[in-house]
Amino acid sequence: MAGDGGGWLASSPTVGISNYYSPWIFKQRAIEWVLSLIDNVIISPNLDFVWLTHGFGLRDSAIPPDLTTVRQVHSAIVLDACGRRGEQIGEGDAIISTESGVTIGVRTADCVPILLADTVNRTVACAHAGWRGTAANIIGATVGRLEALGSRAADLHVAIGPSIGSCCYEVGADVARQFQAWMDAPPSGWGEHTAVDLPKINEIQLREAGVGKIWISGECTFCRPERFFSFRREKEQAGRMLSYIGTVV
Ligand SMILES: [Zn+2]
Repeated sequence: MAGDGGGWLASSPTVGISNYYSPWIFKQRAIEWVLSLIDNVIISPNLDFVWLTHGFGLRDSAIPPDLTTVRQVHSAIVLDACGRRGEQIGEGDAIISTESGVTIGVRTADCVPILLADTVNRTVACAHAGWRGTAANIIGATVGRLEALGSRAADLHVAIGPSIGSCCYEVGADVARQFQAWMDAPPSGWGEHTAVDLPKINEIQLREAGVGKIWISGECTFCRPERFFSFRREKEQAGRMLSYIGTVV
């Protein structure tokens, strides 16, 4: 295991996938306590999450075995894995799994990867939220589907992973206006160089959906080339980082 000042590099203790960025609450509990102090993570010390595995990928992270994915289309479509393992299950940008032994994942390179876990029902979900998905409130749709399957928003723990930050993400007025419901207009109006904070908007959408336990990486993929791919920085050469979450049988 290695770490640095900006976060944690941690191996996954449950499925042996190396070199993932897993600063979230669902690690060994000793680490959780340390992180709760460092990152102000909201945790319940009485919960035991050894049944759960997760990670936010870095440039060189290996892909977890038997991963269930979707063909990502920048939508607000949420698909249920329905126990399927190791397949691409259709077109969409969020996946839910209610069955044990299934690992689901999304690929990003500037877009926002989001992992969700209902620690009461042991249901997990992941979402890929770029600007289109964020404007369509895919994370709200994901929480809605979890609720339809019996989860309570208050029971969800959500982690918002590394993505392009507002430091490096300017968009034109037409795109920026799509976020009016969740961000104030800049003092100079919706200009052609409006900075947008996609992780923050997803956080707001989660809070609107009733989720309170939210961890945010805060790391910018554009700013850290040694660590992350960035589509804006590397254009078509950019690889994708895989973020996953799953339950262990
Ligand atoms: Zn940046």
